[in-house]
Amino acid sequence: MRIAMVSEHASPLAALGGVDAGGQNVHVAALSTALARRRHHVTVYTRRDSAALPRRVRILPRLEVVHLDAGPAEHVPKDELLPFMGELADGISRDWQRRPPDVVHGHFWMSGVAALDAARRAPSDTRIPVLQTFHALGPVKRRHQGAGDTSPLERQWLEPSVGRSVDRIIATCSDEVFELKAMGIDRRRISVVPCGVDLELFSGRGPAEPRTRAYRILSVGRLVPRKGVDLVIGALPALRDAGLDVELLIVGGGGNAAALADDAEAHRLLEVATELGVQDRVVFRGQLPRDAMGAIFRSADAVVCAPWYEPFGIVPLEAMACGVPVVAAAVGGLRDTVLDRKTGLHVPPRDPAAIAAAVAALLTDPGLRRALGSAGEARARTRYSWDRVAAETERAYLQTVAAGAEVRRLDAVEGAVL
Ligand code: UDP
Repeated sequence: MRIAMVSEHASPLAALGGVDAGGQNVHVAALSTALARRRHHVTVYTRRDSAALPRRVRILPRLEVVHLDAGPAEHVPKDELLPFMGELADGISRDWQRRPPDVVHGHFWMSGVAALDAARRAPSDTRIPVLQTFHALGPVKRRHQGAGDTSPLERQWLEPSVGRSVDRIIATCSDEVFELKAMGIDRRRISVVPCGVDLELFSGRGPAEPRTRAYRILSVGRLVPRKGVDLVIGALPALRDAGLDVELLIVGGGGNAAALADDAEAHRLLEVATELGVQDRVVFRGQLPRDAMGAIFRSADAVVCAPWYEPFGIVPLEAMACGVPVVAAAVGGLRDTVLDRKTGLHVPPRDPAAIAAAVAALLTDPGLRRALGSAGEARARTRYSWDRVAAETERAYLQTVAAGAEVRRLDAVEGAVL
């Protein structure tokens, strides 16, 4: 199959951990690679955010990334990209003049706008089915972030319109299905396919980075308030008072550890730690490359994921794949991936005391840590390989193409009868 992916702000080639570079970049990179390995031809269209980027970058024999001009060739926050989606669709549709794809798969609502626009411009005899993965949904973001939500106003009607207009939606967790149904989307047009984890980079075998205290807990992700890193810091006084010699390693942020001096959220977190008197137990590492992450995960006794909400959350899967138990807020995708008392411990959202209790339960019980860690590793390997995720995505593509062919056949029959 010829597959076009559209990922307007999240290039599969970007460095991770910055405000707008995280799970979607990983998802698009890994899914397109796994699909290319399954012998599909995949083209990923993304916005040119630097003049230095070449137009086409071949990653594998059947996988290329195409950088398209859409707005200025520099970083633009994702919430300011909507005005450039028409230009992005121009570039996509020009590229399709050479050869249209069999399906197009949009990632994030704005890519869905561009994908639908480009598909509508195809010649009338070429219908290109459109699939959509939202990665995050506006109503959920608004509910949790309120005035802090910087999404453009248009998201309120364009996102549901993308949902109603595409041929099929690929939701990444069961919670998202409820949200989509609440947006008026028919359940029959939704497939649930989770994100995967790179089992070569993330496994229980391999070196672990040394640590400076008896125990280490780890937080990994973009440094944005909704990831709840302050809640993990909030658990540290209780752990200290329980006599546990714990350090919290924080990975992520706008650059390396030195660049964190300019990161407003890193400053805020340090202030929280200082106010609570635990600044000596918190280590900020900044953004780390993918190949450094395995040794970091393996160095931890537990990984804590305490987001307010989480559309999917690849970090807990990476922790599980490395055999490390996860303390997870019971929200969104984390409720599917982390099984309570089997691969980690669930805690209520926004509850530092519950985080402290769960972490203490793990740190004081090596047997429990080992049991949850090895069950997590087994679950990640059997359920969340990217090859399995790509196979399930491929099934959704084939189902959508077949449904489109059936509609065209019925249209032709109706045309002949009339
Ligand atoms: N990540 C990384 N280096 C960093 C920070 C994050 O490689 O310094 C990766 C992390 O390992 C994970 C992704 O970024 O693969 C974050 O994905 P997740 O789904 O957990 O969060 P999102 O960014 O989508 O909110």
